[in-house]
Amino acid sequence: MKAIKFFISCGFLFVLAACGNGERTFLTIGTGSQTGVYYPVGNVIKQVVEQESEGRLRMSVATSGGSVQNINDVMSGAIQFGIAQADRQYQAVNGLSNWEDDPQTALRFAFSLHPEVVTLIASEESGIRTLEDLRGKRVNIGSPGSGQRGNAIDILQAVGIDPENDLRALSLTVGECAGRLQDGLMDAYFYTVGHPNGSITEATTGRLRVRFVPITGQEGLIEASPFYSLTEVPVELYPRALQEGPVPSIGMLTTVVTHADVPDDLVYEVVKSVFENLDDLRQQHQALSQLTPEGMLQGQNAPLHPGALRYFREAGLINE
Ligand code: GLU
Repeated sequence: MKAIKFFISCGFLFVLAACGNGERTFLTIGTGSQTGVYYPVGNVIKQVVEQESEGRLRMSVATSGGSVQNINDVMSGAIQFGIAQADRQYQAVNGLSNWEDDPQTALRFAFSLHPEVVTLIASEESGIRTLEDLRGKRVNIGSPGSGQRGNAIDILQAVGIDPENDLRALSLTVGECAGRLQDGLMDAYFYTVGHPNGSITEATTGRLRVRFVPITGQEGLIEASPFYSLTEVPVELYPRALQEGPVPSIGMLTTVVTHADVPDDLVYEVVKSVFENLDDLRQQHQALSQLTPEGMLQGQNAPLHPGALRYFREAGLINE
């Protein structure tokens, strides 16, 4: 490496390193726990971006607490891209929930990925079969940086359960949950996630038998919010779970967000690399197997980044 130089673009620090074979730009995508889907998906994105740019773009895949942390890290400029649930994206832009009265107006949508399901899993010993049964139990609602924490609170409140007073609510990172459930240290945990994933696989294959708890009574929540939809936990992916049939829940899309100040060319290149290698994405993680270019324009709750818009126009996905 002959020279390294730093430049600041609209308050953003990018690192350009001049090497024997040209300049390199280093960027970071924020993901989630290693036991989720965001992290392996971030690694697939890294792979296609580096391959398409022939190593000129170098992408680090950062583990994180999840959607809320990723949005905050994108906004602070610590990372250039973040994976985030479409509902948290909506709330950030509109100044709701974690961002109450503080709208994140510079947050930008790049594209969406797989669907996520709010998944509630409980040990057989806990006796939990319904949301009502959570009262008084040790339930992980999620760490403050996670996307599931907001979903758990919305769902519990919709059925008249106060997460602060009616449960023994825990705020642990999701990486700890499957082990704690299996060790009998926790009765249930919420995880908003694509399927299959490492956490639920670990939780369902341990010594203790576990079951998915139906998330019902959410019609009012769905009607009042533009981002939730009715869905089901694909229980067939976890053959050792104790289950009698399809498990209803609510869900949303996963999205990739960025900041208005991230240069258009960079966003264009990342989006193009992903869209032109969709087969790789579909093959490398089962949660991505249903991706379509048109579907990846859904879940847009923040303004579209101009770099992404350029690619979508060029690819004929947007005609305006
Ligand atoms: N939806 C989760 C969150 O935002 C992360 C899921 C995953 O890592 O796949 O915290």
